[in-house]
Amino acid sequence: MKDTTPIQLKEIGLKITPQRQAILKLLKGNETHPSAESIYSEISKKFPGISFATVYNTLSKLIEAGEIRELDIDPNKRRFDPCVAPHTHFYCQACGNIFDISHDFHLPLTIKRIDGHQVDVVQLNLKGVCKNCRKIP
Ligand SMILES: [Zn+2]
Ligand SMILES: [Zn+2]
Repeated sequence: MKDTTPIQLKEIGLKITPQRQAILKLLKGNETHPSAESIYSEISKKFPGISFATVYNTLSKLIEAGEIRELDIDPNKRRFDPCVAPHTHFYCQACGNIFDISHDFHLPLTIKRIDGHQVDVVQLNLKGVCKNCRKIP
């Protein structure tokens, strides 16, 4: 899902640096659900001196500010999604790609209370083999 609203670094309490702006640029409209490692390797091509901590801290601040979200779907890595609107993800266990699924599952995604517990987040994670990997070579 594409979301191209610009994020204002100042509004979320981050000093504007060219490195941080590059991280934002990389994330906005990005539908590949990148990991911190892949964001870091992209950014360090442009800013060879950048530290992993800078990338990681910027990502954490963006999550805190609700500008991006962290996905709990890849068993190996934290993955990030600049689209914070509710949507479902499909994780390919063969290639590790994450796909956005727009299908409406009619699940109780709006549930607020269950067995006396307060529900803040309902996440549906689909896993399997993606259409690209299913193709017979
Ligand atoms: Zn795949
Ligand atoms: Zn997504």
